[in-house]
Amino acid sequence: MTYYEDLSPYEYVKESIPAGVSAVNVGWLEPGEEYTQGEVPEGFTDALAVMVRDSRRMKMRGWHSCRLAHVGYTEPYPTTVDVGGQKLSLGGAEIRVVAESGEWLIAPDLVLHYVSNHSYKPPTDFIEAVMDRRIAPGE
Ligand SMILES: [Zn+2]
Repeated sequence: MTYYEDLSPYEYVKESIPAGVSAVNVGWLEPGEEYTQGEVPEGFTDALAVMVRDSRRMKMRGWHSCRLAHVGYTEPYPTTVDVGGQKLSLGGAEIRVVAESGEWLIAPDLVLHYVSNHSYKPPTDFIEAVMDRRIAPGE
């Protein structure tokens, strides 16, 4: 996957963004690139997990795997996550939410793994949009 700085203009599947909508990147992490780490609010990870289970967008064939270092264990391919007893493969879709400003915030679904396993702390707008379940329209 390509590295995109948080809140940089979204370009990956640009033609999928409706005209007039501004969209930015969240959570496109790669080894060697700095990212914000920290605690996320109570309930955020659960809300994100439900979104990954129910509201993924831009599903693609195959998976990108997490390439960050996993200390003390080997992450399987594809990267998987357990959501309420259901095993989901990450790395083949996006999460798209809407900030209060109307801007779309677009993350790879791997963002759930980054938050859970790599202490990634997404920008506040993204955290709020996920907790408020402001999911962008689309398939
Ligand atoms: Zn990882």
